[in-house]
Amino acid sequence: METSRSVIDYSLTRRATLAALFGGRATTTDVCDAHPYLLRAAKFHGEPTDDPCPVCHKDLLTHVTYTYGDALGEYNGRIKATRELAQLQYEVSEFTVYVVEVCQTCGWNHLRESYVLGHGGRTGNGAEVARLRAGARRVRHSRERALSE
Ligand SMILES: [Zn+2]
Repeated sequence: METSRSVIDYSLTRRATLAALFGGRATTTDVCDAHPYLLRAAKFHGEPTDDPCPVCHKDLLTHVTYTYGDALGEYNGRIKATRELAQLQYEVSEFTVYVVEVCQTCGWNHLRESYVLGHGGRTGNGAEVARLRAGARRVRHSRERALSE
């Protein structure tokens, strides 16, 4: 199951940002503002690409892939390697992938694309099951509280 849903390509906004930079309507300080956390993520968890940095042309871009979704439980917001996504989408019903490109030399960074993955089912993931159980417990507790008051 390699299908991805809701793919959003950010190449238009990327091109607009670069056009603003080269047209003098933005400065490198505006667009090469990678957060230290993002730079560190690129260094240690990023995946190299063959794309040269569109701003400084001194370095190749690194992709950092973030995964977000309630169904991910404690893994919500974690960085994942692209090769891990195939396995993850068998285990988790739905999550969104954000791919950010980063230049580790000048700090250029831009969202490249985002897409939704997951098996689409309702259960099958430990985090989801735990969440459902916690939800059921909460309901039961509030009902008990209501009865004792
Ligand atoms: Zn650069």
